[in-house]
Amino acid sequence: MHIIFLGPPGVGKGTQANMLVEKYPIVKISTGDLLRESIKIGSNLGMQAKGFMEKGELVPDQLVLGLVLEKISSPEFGKKIFVFDGFPRNIQQAIELDKIMAKVQSKINLVIDFTMDEEERILRLSGRRMCPKCQRTYHMTYAKPKHDNLCDVCDVNLVQRSDDNEEIIRQRSTVYWEHTRPLLEYYNVKKILKSADASRSIENVFSDIENMIKPLMK
Ligand code: AMP
Repeated sequence: MHIIFLGPPGVGKGTQANMLVEKYPIVKISTGDLLRESIKIGSNLGMQAKGFMEKGELVPDQLVLGLVLEKISSPEFGKKIFVFDGFPRNIQQAIELDKIMAKVQSKINLVIDFTMDEEERILRLSGRRMCPKCQRTYHMTYAKPKHDNLCDVCDVNLVQRSDDNEEIIRQRSTVYWEHTRPLLEYYNVKKILKSADASRSIENVFSDIENMIKPLMK
């Protein structure tokens, strides 16, 4: 069984996915993380994706799908459960994901839609910092690192994502409403869509998510 985390930027999908991975035999597939990694290592794909990401636009489907396919086919993941964070981002990607899943004789069993007010999301994203090494996220008000600006685990300086400024955040939200939001209906029809009120505490949201996935893990 596999899970998709849906929702606009800043609702905490990545944080919740990281918590799931730490507690359960689940693998996170975040296309945003994979793309940022490609840029960091200077790959051809990363160079092609960079301009789109800096503007808050979607990276072309074929680039993203290639990354996802590579990750899913990796033998190290064997029969683990995947949680997709930030993928699919449009109907075409969802259709392609269904095809990939059918090929590996698997399927998506649960899609969680994270909901939160826009101004609250912007506040959260503007204070967000990330560890460039392990990708853990922090918030300078709500989830501070233990020491100064350092990752609790890697002890390296936290950075702010270049697309976490207000103008680009608003553009990412617009892209979400236009391209990603229609996925709610796509998965609602399949009767695998659930919703989580992401404005509550990280722990409360996590507990909701655990309650949604536990019955599927039996
Ligand atoms: P995220 O880390 O999920 O907020 O993604 C950051 C940026 O990466 C997005 O604004 C897009 O430019 C790009 N991106 C991430 N996932 C996808 C995807 N599934 N399809 C297209 N672009 C993506």
